[in-house]
Amino acid sequence: MHAVLESSQFILGKTVERFEARFAEYCESPYAIGVNSGTSALHLALLAAGVGAGDEVITVPFTFIATVAAIRYAGATPVFVDIDPRTFTMDARGLEAAVTPKTRAILPVHLYGQPAHMDPIVDFARTRGLVVIEDAAQAHGARYRGRRVGSIGGLACFSFYPSKNLGACGEGGAVVTSNPEFARKIRMLRDWGQESKYRHVLPGFNYRLEALQGAALGVKLPYLDGWNARRAMAAECYSKFLEGSEVRAPELARDRTHVFHVYAVRCQNRGSLQSRLASEGIQTGIHYPVPVHLTPAHADLGYSAGDFPESERAASEVLSLPMFPELSEVQIRTVADAVRAAAGVAEPELCGIEA
Ligand SMILES: *Cc1c(COP(=O)(O)O)cnc(C)c1O
Repeated sequence: MHAVLESSQFILGKTVERFEARFAEYCESPYAIGVNSGTSALHLALLAAGVGAGDEVITVPFTFIATVAAIRYAGATPVFVDIDPRTFTMDARGLEAAVTPKTRAILPVHLYGQPAHMDPIVDFARTRGLVVIEDAAQAHGARYRGRRVGSIGGLACFSFYPSKNLGACGEGGAVVTSNPEFARKIRMLRDWGQESKYRHVLPGFNYRLEALQGAALGVKLPYLDGWNARRAMAAECYSKFLEGSEVRAPELARDRTHVFHVYAVRCQNRGSLQSRLASEGIQTGIHYPVPVHLTPAHADLGYSAGDFPESERAASEVLSLPMFPELSEVQIRTVADAVRAAAGVAEPELCGIEA
């Protein structure tokens, strides 16, 4: 970061290129293009895939709003399919009913850090000539059947928002792809559609990654696998301590690794559990309380309550417990005990053997 300040090369440049090369290698894919947010990454991936006005893109309603916003930036219409309640990710069985002659791309989300079940999605896309774009904003480093997320679809989008598993010291994002033509187009689109200085061949954007962010990300990247492993250990610990309690721990699909951007349990009495935990100084979150098809911002799509029952049920049941790599076992135990106590489940009693 000091070298960036010394050089005054604040936007793109060598520092960003070095990070892009390392991040592509990390994702086991040939190209990574740094941009200024995960949302911009999604927008440019859609444009590179040829998505535009009049097209449809199939995605899930149980996601962060940015997934859907990006589809609309591209001028396309989001078409939703429901989630698999076990993994909170796209249920490929919904694709057949959602596809139309206008469909151009499928955008599964690796929600909470667990990859979507990609093989049936990729197979379906192949037979229909559709592009698969992974929303990997929560899943840096996760694997699906041995493959890193980012290397499975035609394009994949990452966010480096500070709270993500790999976070910048500000905003940042990247598109990862194995397709050189997509990579070339995205590199131009992020910088005013320039092929070379002032030769604007595409209607582009100011979506460039800052060099200070590239520098910070480059320093942090070697720690990512270690941090992800700590998150997974913390998750395992939570799930063990929560056994027999009223909340349901997340399910792990055996053919995937989960990097636990979020550790979300399901519970029936979320409001009271959340306030009990808050009263004991334990902060929790809800990712996300309203599925996108029911948000006022996208009411014009014409969906209504009951259209995607699994997404709606998840939105009303999930509660995210504290999750970060530095969590200690004592902290995890404290949270788990508070969850059990709040639900009226007694802590295991001492046996009363005298000293
Ligand atoms: C964070 C996130 C985004 C958007 O990333 P930003 O960098 O905040 O623009 C998109 N999709 C999902 C699933 C996210 O979690």
